[in-house]
Amino acid sequence: MIKVAKFGGSSVADSNQFKKIKNIISSDEKRHIVVVSAGGKRFKDDNKITDLLYLCHAHIKYKVNYDWIMATIESRYREIKNSLNLSIDLDKEFDEIKKLMKSNIPEDFLVSRGEYLTAKLMADYLGYSFIDAKDIIHFQYDGKVNMKKTKEAIITAIDKCPKAVIPGFYGSLPNGDIKLFSRGGSDITGSIVANCVDAELYENWTDVSGILMADPNIIKNPKQIEILTYNELRELSYMGADVLHTDAVYPVKIANIPINIRNTNCPENNGTLIVNEGSELLEENKKNIITGIAGRKDFTSISFYKDGISNEIGAIKRVLEIFEKYGLNVEQVPTGVDTFSVVVSTKSLNGKAFELLTDIKNYCNIENIKFNDGISFISIVGRNMAKTPGISGKIFGAVGDMGINIKTISQSPDEINIIIGVDNNNFKKTIETIYNKFIA
Ligand code: ASP
Repeated sequence: MIKVAKFGGSSVADSNQFKKIKNIISSDEKRHIVVVSAGGKRFKDDNKITDLLYLCHAHIKYKVNYDWIMATIESRYREIKNSLNLSIDLDKEFDEIKKLMKSNIPEDFLVSRGEYLTAKLMADYLGYSFIDAKDIIHFQYDGKVNMKKTKEAIITAIDKCPKAVIPGFYGSLPNGDIKLFSRGGSDITGSIVANCVDAELYENWTDVSGILMADPNIIKNPKQIEILTYNELRELSYMGADVLHTDAVYPVKIANIPINIRNTNCPENNGTLIVNEGSELLEENKKNIITGIAGRKDFTSISFYKDGISNEIGAIKRVLEIFEKYGLNVEQVPTGVDTFSVVVSTKSLNGKAFELLTDIKNYCNIENIKFNDGISFISIVGRNMAKTPGISGKIFGAVGDMGINIKTISQSPDEINIIIGVDNNNFKKTIETIYNKFIA
C-alpha cells in the first residue's frame, strides 16, 4: 500500500523547506507519490509564486514590462537549485517559458509553470521520477475531470514510475491545452491521485498542525482536532474553517481513503485525521461531544409578514424563485405563522436589494417586508451530538447566561451540527462561550 503526500505552498517555499520534505519522505517508505504546490510565502510580506505568475500575465496583457516579476520568480527557483546542488537545467526551462511569453502565452499555461518547476526540482532532489500533470489529469471541456481517463493514465504512469513527484493544480483539456483547477487546487490533484492509486492514506502537508477546534484569531491556542469525519469537515469548512479545498474531499471520500492533515514544520505532531462515518478509528474518540466550532459574519435576514401566510400554498416557493432569479444563495428560511424570513449573505445582496424587493412586492403580493442585517452564524459541529439529548439545551443555556440573544436556530437532519444566529457584535463572545463550556 502507498501513501500520497501533498505539500502546500509554504512547505515548498525555499531550499530549507525542501530539506524538511526529504526528511519526511525518507522517514516512511510508503510515501511513494509526492504532489506539490508552487512556492508560497516564506515570510509575512512575501509573495506566492502563483500570484506573481498571474501578475506577470496581467502585465503581458496590458503590455507592461514584466522583467522584474520574472526575475523575482526565477530567483526563488535558483535559490533552491543552487542550495541543493540540483542538476535540472533551469536556464533551458526559463528560456522556453520566456519565448512563449512573447507570443500569446495562455494564462493557465503560464500560471501552471509554478507547480511544474517545483515538481521538477523536487523530483531531482528526492531522486523520484517527474510525471507531468498534463499527461495524467484529464479535464473535459465542461471543466470537470474525466475520472476514467485520468485513472487509466495515472495507473499506467505509476506502473512505469512507482516513485514520482507530480505538480498539483493543473491538468489538460482534450486538445492538450493546460487547464487549472481553482485556487488552492493542488489539494484536488493530490486527492484524485490518491483515489486512482487506491492509496492507504492521503497526507496533506501544510504549515499548521491539523485542524483546530476553533479559529485561533478568536480563541487563544485552541485545541487540535485529532479525528473527524468528512461530513464534519464539510460543515466546518462551509462555516469558515479554512483547511482543504472543498473539492478535494470527494475523490478520497468515495474511495474511503483517510486524509491526514500534517505540519511540514512539525512532523512529530500526528495532525488531524479525516475518515468516513463508519471508521472504527472513531470508536476510540467518543469523549468529545463537540468536534469544532466555526462561524461566519455578515448575513441579512429579509422577513415577510402577511396574515395567514403559512397557509398560503406556494408562498415561500414564489419568494425563493425571486431569490434564485437574482442568483442569491439562501442560507436559512426560518418560518412562523404569519411570517417567514430568508437569510442570505449581506455581500451577495449588494446592488440587488432594491430590485429584489420590488419584484417580491409585485410578484408575491407581500407588502410588509423588513431587512435586518448584521447577523452572524455560528456552527457547532460534532458527530457525537447526534442522538444525545440535552446538548442544544446546554448550548442555549450557556449563551443565554452570557446575555447573548439568539436570533435563529437550526439543526442539520443528521444532527451533526447546530447553527445559531446572533448579532455580529456577539460573534466572538458566542464562540468563546461555547468553546469554554464544551472544550476548554
Ligand atoms: N499554487 C496554487 C495556488 O496558489 C495552487 C495551490 O497551491 O494549491 O492557488
